[in-house]
Amino acid sequence: MTTKEFRVYGVVQGVGFRPFVHRLAEAHGLTGYVANKGSYVEIAAAGAAESLAVFRREIVEKAPERALIFRVDVRDREEYSGHGFSIAESEADCGSRFVSPDIAICDACRAELFDKHDRRYLHPFINCTDCGPRLTILDEMPYDRERTSMKSFPMCEVCAKEYHDRESRRYDAQPIACHDCGPQVYLLDGSLRGADAIRAVRRAICEGKIAAVKGIGGFHLCCDATNETAVNLLRQRKRRPTKPFAVMVRDMETAAREAVIPEALRVVLNGPEKPIVILRRRGGGRIASAAAPGSRRVGLMLPYTPLHFLLFDYPDGLSVPDALIMTSGNPPGAPICRTDDEARESLASLADLILSHDRRIRVRADDSVTEVYDGGPYMIRRSRGYAPLPVFLPPLENMRDGVLAVGSELKNTFCLGQNGMFYPSAHIGDMGDPRSVECLKETAARMVSLLEIMPRVVAYDPHPVYHTASFALSLGLPTVAVQHHHAHIVSCMAENGRKEPVIGVAFDGTGYGTDGSVWGGEILLADYRDFTRVGSIEPFPQAGGERAALEGWRIAAGLLQGGEVSKNALRLSLGSAAEIGAQLFLLENKINTVTSTSAGRLFDAVSAALGICRVSTFEGEAAMALQFAAEAWDEEGEAFNLPPLGTAEDGRFLLPTTALFKEIVKRRHSGEKVSALAAAFHASLASLIGLGCRAAREKTGVSSVALSGGVFQNTLLLGLVERNLREDGFEVLRHQVIPANDGGLSLGQAVCAAAQMMNKN
Ligand code: ZN
Ligand code: ZN
Ligand code: FE
Repeated sequence: MTTKEFRVYGVVQGVGFRPFVHRLAEAHGLTGYVANKGSYVEIAAAGAAESLAVFRREIVEKAPERALIFRVDVRDREEYSGHGFSIAESEADCGSRFVSPDIAICDACRAELFDKHDRRYLHPFINCTDCGPRLTILDEMPYDRERTSMKSFPMCEVCAKEYHDRESRRYDAQPIACHDCGPQVYLLDGSLRGADAIRAVRRAICEGKIAAVKGIGGFHLCCDATNETAVNLLRQRKRRPTKPFAVMVRDMETAAREAVIPEALRVVLNGPEKPIVILRRRGGGRIASAAAPGSRRVGLMLPYTPLHFLLFDYPDGLSVPDALIMTSGNPPGAPICRTDDEARESLASLADLILSHDRRIRVRADDSVTEVYDGGPYMIRRSRGYAPLPVFLPPLENMRDGVLAVGSELKNTFCLGQNGMFYPSAHIGDMGDPRSVECLKETAARMVSLLEIMPRVVAYDPHPVYHTASFALSLGLPTVAVQHHHAHIVSCMAENGRKEPVIGVAFDGTGYGTDGSVWGGEILLADYRDFTRVGSIEPFPQAGGERAALEGWRIAAGLLQGGEVSKNALRLSLGSAAEIGAQLFLLENKINTVTSTSAGRLFDAVSAALGICRVSTFEGEAAMALQFAAEAWDEEGEAFNLPPLGTAEDGRFLLPTTALFKEIVKRRHSGEKVSALAAAFHASLASLIGLGCRAAREKTGVSSVALSGGVFQNTLLLGLVERNLREDGFEVLRHQVIPANDGGLSLGQAVCAAAQMMNKN
């Protein structure tokens, strides 16, 4: 008889891990206990040595699907004298915390939901040990019912029995609920509750109305996605003319009817995270074109809460369409609504009726969004279902002090880190709106307490007018300023577990450069601590202040300088004579004009010059339209012959992107096809990036390249660049689960700050 103590580190709370250990121990005839310790799960087990060895192995091999085990420490302990095997009550403990993300409803619960004989038939909050809300209902760790929003719903006798019965699917399931004891749905105007409220919403959807529906991490706005008029009504009310809406489809068959689903993506679409997957639309689908105007893609997701399933199917004689728009319920710029008060204030004017419920959301979580690249997922927004799973960086394991990185100004996330574990938050939003800044402060404070990471240093983007920077500086802690593109590259290195220096290609919209100009088409030599700017695209004047960020025609006018500007600009229909004249006046007199190397703006300019998109209604619209135009060209784009790399005053090389732009304009004038030119632009830029990396390799001897920044959301460009670089003998690091856009920035900032701190100690 031997007694051992096991400490299991990882995502092992809220995923059915303790009941699993319990069953496993009994199967091997072991006595002892399993306990949640907050930072780890402790197991004491007594039995034959061989049984203990098998038990140790099977803890890892047979762990529940949603568990993520980083490490199991084993040591001898004094003999265990108790009888049987038990689950001990939770004790709080500090250290690294592993909070489980929310988990979509499982198949077994779904079957019960529609089983007339089940006592949870049609119960909108059905869940079990394997599924249901986690992070979004959590008040405090360790994860136990009394530390969640479920505290206000005392279990009924029958639920309590299941909760304590180890043969039950709901053994130890914290959010367990039923019709008798669980939360309830209701219309916010107080008129209807329960089944009546659900029926009313279903009827409204069928009638082409707009409903707001409370989900896991916030409210959605919802309407019939197959009804062009309803979708346009939602666009009008939300003042969102063109940005694509996500569509929730009833099931996989509907998804396959609407879009092409690569095999590897079926698992992602239908996985426990249930993200929105951006797929290629199929001809003959029924989803309204207004869902994603002018796009050959559509963002689809499957239902992930019992309530979603009930919206699609309910025994009330109505037939609700099998595709529903499900877009975040928030006023423009503000975070997703979470409480009834927020919904009343912000959604009442957008929705005809609001379906809420009384299970409180403690932490907001927008839907995650992923693109498809190379047959697999490529994250655009990492949020519900993924946050706050950590990224583990063994080289920084000895970092004792906590780090808080406050993230970017747009697409904000923040990141907490300690002991080599980095926890990027769910999506917060754009900091231009004070409500988003509040949300950042509030959520950061909440995660500090959930993860028990006390930051000793704060990392931020040093742009002089960013709200994130003033938040960072207001905390009264030591700060580390991390240059925007350096953070992008380090986020990609971190995701790939890379520590050695890389050539970083950081192409994005805007980042504050160390020389005070706008950067965004940069080639850096970077490691965690520092970087050198070895190259960039050719600088151009960006006139017109903030408007220049959305109005590509202004950038195009700037790039045309040095020739017959106004004649060319008029021929390209960049604007009226008066508009062009005014823009040239700004440029010539350097009024409201900055020097820019933004690759995002270069895309906007080309998009405008080709007549594809002159003015964007959301960030990235013009670039996306340019990509779609290029993809519409059936052949592969051919790279132009362009002049060799130039040299800037500081010695960095310059990619001849102005010459590239002028070549496009020349060919447009001579009548070449727009989509052919869009494809050629992508091919040419990819080949220039290849030349730049080669120059950087000659200069530095480094032959690994990390690709990051919002421009690399463009999977066409990414594919071309990756192929060029590989053919040229480079190793290529790219993103997969951390977004290439500013949503991934906080991870890079946190890692930079951690590495600098460790260097000092
Ligand atoms: Zn379940
Ligand atoms: Zn109950
Ligand atoms: Fe960026």
